Amino acid sequence: MAIQIKKVAVIGSGVMGSGIAAHLANVGIPVLLLDIVPTALTNEEQTKRLTLEDPQVRNKFAANALKKLLTQKPAPLTSKRNLSLIEVGNLEDDLEKLKEVDWIVEVIVENLDAKKALYEKIETVRRPGTMISSNTSGIRIDAMAEGRSKDFQQHFLGTHFFNPPRYLKLLEVIPSSYTDPSVVEEMVQFGENRLGKGVVIAKDTPNFIANRIGTYGLMVTLREMERYGYSIGEVDSVTGTLIGRPKSATFRTLDVVGLDTFMHVVNNVYNETTGEEQQVFTIPPFMKKMIDNGWIGAKATQGFYVKKGREILELDLQTFDYIQTKKMKAPSIEMTKQQKGLANKVKTLVYAKDRAGEILWNTLSPTLRYAAEMHGEIADTIVAIDQAMKWGFGWRQGPFEVWDAIGVQKSVRKMREEGFEIPTFVQSLLDSGYDSFYGEQDGVIHYFDGDRYRPVPVNEKVIDLKQYKKKQGVIKKNTGASLIDLGDGIALLEFHSQSNAIGLDIIQMINFAVDEVEKNYKGLVIGNQGKNFCVGANLGLILMEAGDDNLFELDYVIRAFQNAMMKIKYATKPVVAAPFGMTLGGGAEVCLPAAHIQAAQETYMGLVETGVGLIPGGGGNIGLYTKFLKGIPHGVEVDLQKVANQVFETIALAKVSTSAEEARENNFLNFADGISVNEDHQLYEAKQIALTLFENGYTTPKREKIPVTGDSGYATLLLGAEAMFLSGYISEHDLKIAKKLAFVLSGGKLPFGTLVDEQYLLDLEREAFLSLIAEPKSQQRMQHMLLKGKPLRN
Ligand code: NAD
Repeated sequence: MAIQIKKVAVIGSGVMGSGIAAHLANVGIPVLLLDIVPTALTNEEQTKRLTLEDPQVRNKFAANALKKLLTQKPAPLTSKRNLSLIEVGNLEDDLEKLKEVDWIVEVIVENLDAKKALYEKIETVRRPGTMISSNTSGIRIDAMAEGRSKDFQQHFLGTHFFNPPRYLKLLEVIPSSYTDPSVVEEMVQFGENRLGKGVVIAKDTPNFIANRIGTYGLMVTLREMERYGYSIGEVDSVTGTLIGRPKSATFRTLDVVGLDTFMHVVNNVYNETTGEEQQVFTIPPFMKKMIDNGWIGAKATQGFYVKKGREILELDLQTFDYIQTKKMKAPSIEMTKQQKGLANKVKTLVYAKDRAGEILWNTLSPTLRYAAEMHGEIADTIVAIDQAMKWGFGWRQGPFEVWDAIGVQKSVRKMREEGFEIPTFVQSLLDSGYDSFYGEQDGVIHYFDGDRYRPVPVNEKVIDLKQYKKKQGVIKKNTGASLIDLGDGIALLEFHSQSNAIGLDIIQMINFAVDEVEKNYKGLVIGNQGKNFCVGANLGLILMEAGDDNLFELDYVIRAFQNAMMKIKYATKPVVAAPFGMTLGGGAEVCLPAAHIQAAQETYMGLVETGVGLIPGGGGNIGLYTKFLKGIPHGVEVDLQKVANQVFETIALAKVSTSAEEARENNFLNFADGISVNEDHQLYEAKQIALTLFENGYTTPKREKIPVTGDSGYATLLLGAEAMFLSGYISEHDLKIAKKLAFVLSGGKLPFGTLVDEQYLLDLEREAFLSLIAEPKSQQRMQHMLLKGKPLRN
């Protein structure tokens, strides 16, 4: 029978333990966080006359970790409120409480003896059937399970989270030779559906999958850099975003991980290998020296890089001085930048005959061969290896996808010419007559598994829009958006303009989509799989019209935007918005009128127009105000002024949520809206909601009159803004914007509590918006944002 995980104990409250506890709390699971009891008092505790018997002292490791969760960056919690789901304690006084939990995660120091001693202690209280796992980075799971009872062994496995657990998608699940397969399956399901992770099953080998390949790649890069005398900055300019890897490239990544931690992970493999492989996993003398010096990276404020004032310097490995960073300058880099698509970029750079091309080839070529050699040993499929590298190291393409991109035959020829042996796995691919590890057969993606192609397992909850469009085409498309048939009677409106900014093309497609869905479909999802859901309206377009004094034209555009939002709101079929990532300005305005919002956990939502000298112009002011009002449960008295105050503050200060949960606290979402913890499931979940709404007899919302705070409300709203202006916190122009916003939100010159038409408020909004656009200071703000990407305070 499936085990229900309702409560979890996390043991060890360090970097990873506290992060895992926070992530569990983020998804609503109560956590018991335990750590050891301190053995001595600090001076401060002695002065306070505390003893080793005081709970305050006994629980202090876990309690301090909890406090840190509130200040850590990036924030481990999606809402500060989640802290209340974590109960702290210690391993002596609270051991019995382990009986109450369904899963115990061990996250203590990386030491086999310490871990085994802890398990022995846990065994005395653990309820049979309770899942138990270790977050070890590299100790054998089998070795840890030794000596335990059968029930313990059957329920024990590795669950390897990546740091920071909220943000890094990979969860490696590692069964031991004793683990019950149903326990593995349960953990895979739980990890994917409740924790939102990308779960990969790994074999019980040193460092599992991602760290095995990832550290190899990093070690080879260090070796080649030294061999050919590249500088740190030069290597980073080739090994980062240019080839689909994170911005932190090689050395900033090492600084963030910490050289001490990195050495530990590298040594895990060093200790278990021999020969050439062991040689690669040998920490070079310069890194040992850095560790001896304490230059271990970000946590020590210096590593390969150091920040001096506003400047970032890099370490010169010859002199051990910090010098100005040197970027790689090579013709191939310019050529690569001009290529379209990642595959073409990598292919261009890797074969280029200059310093940039050479370092990439010399590091990529051994890493690809290593990944192929590890196939079968660390994971069953190349799919698992590729996913682990993408989810754990933030690569846009896994090693086998990269290999396909650069051409298997061409690269193998070059490797052979250089005298390298080709892994058997790759040789069998070529012998079978294939030239790529992945291929499409009858519209289904297949992968090579050693002797033939097999279909890549399909997860019905993962909708891949690119594949959908390729297979089914689109219902209609223009430069800014496409309407796609998602099947089962649901259509999807996808934005795909530059940064998904809203222009007239998208507005046209919104109108078309709603009309089409009303005629031929059951519901509409608005979502996409770009970098961000939508960064707002197309500012360039607005500025251009404003610069030409084209207010008539602008009035038309804003009216069209508002009308399209009302079309979403009053559609006869349910519209579900699926925001994720940055959902700003117009992006948020598209979501507010939807029948339902299904937001990804990582949704950064806000009406940020004041930053560019404007107020929302697509119904956002009224949208947020009415969403807040509608979210107040029946029977609870409505404090209209309080609602207006909060909405005013959210918009005037351009507050952006740091998660979907915070967007809910800011009233962009209400309790009927949903949050998808696993971003890959978001479109599927949005589609299911649209279907359910339809099947439950969806009806268009009634056009209700809206109560406003009027004259007195306007005065109240402005009190705070005026005080801020008088004390110099905001500029005169900010105050002007605040006044316009207050006027729109309070409904203008009316008595408190007057009921008004929605269109009346939309007209007020449009007038205010247009008057602000004509202001030179607002135009300066827009220009600054377009040129510099950040707000100007004038
Ligand atoms: P850490 O040093 O930050 O925290 C370890 C915690 O364990 C501390 O709170 C300590 O008080 C507690 N502890 C120490 N000895 C104990 C004992 N005998 N019994 C109970 N608690 C004890 O370490 P960390 O970085 O959080 O790593 C924890 C585990 O997670 C290790 O196995 C590590 O390999 C693994 N891991 C770490 C990372 C990472 O990036 N830091 C990533 C993945 C996995």
